[in-house]
Amino acid sequence: MEHNQSIAIIGGGVGGLFCGAILSKEGYRVSIFEQHYKIGGGLHQFRRDGVTFETGMHVVGAFQQGGALRRICSYLGIMDQLEILPEDDSCYELFHIGCDQKKYPMPKGAKRFAEALCAEFPEEKENIARYMQELYKICDEVKLYSLENTEVVEASTMPFMGNSENFLKSVGGFINSFTKNERLRAVLAFGNPLYAGEQHKTPAYIHAFISKFCIEGASRFVGGSQQLADALSRVITDAGGIVAAANGVRRIEIEGKSIDHIVTADGAKRRADWYISSIHPSSLFRLLDASKLQRSYRERIDSIPNTYSAFMLYLVFKPGTFPFFNYTYYYQDDYSMTWEHDVYTADTWPKGLMCATPPATAHDVFAEKMIVSCIMNFETVRQWEHTTTGKRGAAYLAFKQRCEQQALCKLEQIFPHIRTCIKSTYCATPLTIRDYYNQKEGAMYGVKNDCNNMALSHISVRTKLKNLLLTGQNINLHGILGVPLTAIHTCAELVGMEYLLNKINKYKDI
Ligand SMILES: Cc1cc2nc3c(=O)[nH]c(=O)nc-3n(C[C@H](O)[C@H](O)[C@H](O)COP(=O)(O)OP(=O)(O)OC[C@H]3O[C@@H](n4cnc5c(N)ncnc54)[C@H](O)[C@@H]3O)c2cc1C
Repeated sequence: MEHNQSIAIIGGGVGGLFCGAILSKEGYRVSIFEQHYKIGGGLHQFRRDGVTFETGMHVVGAFQQGGALRRICSYLGIMDQLEILPEDDSCYELFHIGCDQKKYPMPKGAKRFAEALCAEFPEEKENIARYMQELYKICDEVKLYSLENTEVVEASTMPFMGNSENFLKSVGGFINSFTKNERLRAVLAFGNPLYAGEQHKTPAYIHAFISKFCIEGASRFVGGSQQLADALSRVITDAGGIVAAANGVRRIEIEGKSIDHIVTADGAKRRADWYISSIHPSSLFRLLDASKLQRSYRERIDSIPNTYSAFMLYLVFKPGTFPFFNYTYYYQDDYSMTWEHDVYTADTWPKGLMCATPPATAHDVFAEKMIVSCIMNFETVRQWEHTTTGKRGAAYLAFKQRCEQQALCKLEQIFPHIRTCIKSTYCATPLTIRDYYNQKEGAMYGVKNDCNNMALSHISVRTKLKNLLLTGQNINLHGILGVPLTAIHTCAELVGMEYLLNKINKYKDI
């Protein structure tokens, strides 16, 4: 399709790059402006001690045959540029409980996943079958989740919304409705750090989407996630577009009910037919004259609570010392802690952790590195909220050191000899995450959805400004699948949902 329309995108992270690539492919003239010196947002990697680490994309999925991301990336012509390693079929996630030293290896595929649960909980067989059935039913309610266009999915409505009773139940209410067995309840919910789950608030559909996504296709990038950012960027530049790093948007000038132009860090005024913002809506509001937006709209969006953040520990191993494992490892001391990783004191933190050895090659025997993620609330670092990177002071450095030691002690409960394998360590706090992504309160997954008040957290891709669309994790769903699906939702406002899905689904069987 040939257009002569121009698009300016604020933010060169996952959402901005997917929108930019799709619209470039559809003939629009795209310019992306990214504040950071490198593009990628959650796909960005950094290097320490000769080793690269991913910042925000450790578990990926939907790249398996027929998977939604495989289809989208094939349509964009970049699938063959990506190196993906599926996590082990027999165990893509391992859930380890300290109190009884019990380990639950979870295999891929709905049938094998259910069988593994039944083997551990034979008396719960029927309940497990019902749980799996309902979990998948929830996912089927959202056609866009599987890129289905049998019924036309209207872009302007809410394509991520279902209407069954289970869809908007709380995740805790949903899981608990199938079983009274506390151990099984904990096992079914253990992956909740992947979506910042809150037992009584997170809607069950988010749990269902993320669970199915992992059960069917959990995988990792070999050599890191930057390859996807670079491949998306090439789609844009090959079509004549611009991807400008280190040139963030500083101001947005409004004229009447539309954006007149944006001002980038280099001082240039940039005009486009359409603008797409992929950044946190609260960060967006700080760029414009807020009085030009309806106060109630601004205040509602600004008041949506955010998901929790994390303390990230990055380990570089001495060569040939620490065995590589091809799954995501979750650990907590006790079954009762499943929903309480964000409830702690200075002494009881961290309640649990998630760790992984990201693959450097497709055939690693020993791991070169490990990433460790421990849930942390922004409140824990609030006293340093007005500081900037490298200038946070001695008390903050001492705090970081203490957290690092506490996380390492927890890790030793899983791998008692791990310290002898470590060459160097690095860490990031919620402040690092906030400042790096310009993400309010360093929220891992953006705004929080609350099933008790879905209207509060609903943010439409359309805005009160005629030529401004929104995209990114704060709109529908976070992560490697949620954000590209939202990019489709955003782009469909311009090219049409049915048209776009038809084009993407030409690659259904690849
Ligand atoms: C520690 C951590 C671990 C995670 N692990 C996983 C995982 O394993 N799997 C998974 O699927 N998801 C994971 N996520 C979530 C995932 O990273 C996000 O959902 C995803 O990156 C969100 O995409 P986005 O486009 O909304 O935002 P981003 O990818 O953050 O992109 C926003 C971009 O906008 C830029 N920006 C901000 N302000 C401006 C401005 N004024 N001008 C220009 N540019 C600006 C930012 O620099 C950034 O590059 C993780 C997140 C974190 C924090």
